[in-house]
Amino acid sequence: MDKTTNKRHAKRIGLMGGTFDPIHHGHLVAAEVARFEFGLEKVIFIPAGIPPHKTRKDISLPGHRLEMASRAVASNPFFTVSNLEIKRAGVSYAIDTVQEMCRLFPDNDLYFITGADAVLEILTWRNVIGLLELCSFIAATRPGFKLESLNKSLSYYSHHQLSKIKTLEVPALAISSTDIRARVQEGRPIKYLLPEKVEEYIYLNRLYK
Ligand code: ATP
Ligand code: MG
Repeated sequence: MDKTTNKRHAKRIGLMGGTFDPIHHGHLVAAEVARFEFGLEKVIFIPAGIPPHKTRKDISLPGHRLEMASRAVASNPFFTVSNLEIKRAGVSYAIDTVQEMCRLFPDNDLYFITGADAVLEILTWRNVIGLLELCSFIAATRPGFKLESLNKSLSYYSHHQLSKIKTLEVPALAISSTDIRARVQEGRPIKYLLPEKVEEYIYLNRLYK
């Protein structure tokens, strides 16, 4: 049974998953806009332990990614960080995370916030129907991504499942972790692309060199 239908007045919690290597203002803006637009009580950032879709071998240690996320959210009283995926052994599948969050927050409605690019990936994941029964998705648009292509890809889902996937336009931020890592490696500036405290941490720990 769809768990969320019984909870008409439940408070809403946002979950923001990602590799966060490093976390940047694109992630933070998307989470903040989603929090406001969907009336989320809080947003929990969940750095992945072993991300299922990343083939890159040199992902920063989980401890670094967790610390950078903690520093990034410190100034927002509505944001927290969870080490749930990092603590869990093996590949970090969203379904396991959402199931665990359902146990932790049985009286809340869960909203999984992702970039619109990532939502398309998610829909190819195993057990996506089960996932859509446990939580809603907020797909934030990011630069270069056309919402029509998302809607087209979703067209084979039933109306009920489709209603669990919401789209959200966020101010276009052409910021990505990939670009930030390349900039650090090449000695180009990353200032203003991510919080100052994260920038300091990157240089202090010589990440991405
Ligand atoms: P990488 O370049 O290493 O893939 P990334 O910048 O895409 O990193 P991730 O940690 O992979 O960051 O992304 C976590 C989530 O945040 C994903 O759902 C992704 O779509 C979303 N996201 C990333 N950057 C932005 C952005 N600039 N605007 C909106 N959403 C974003
Ligand atoms: Mg990405």
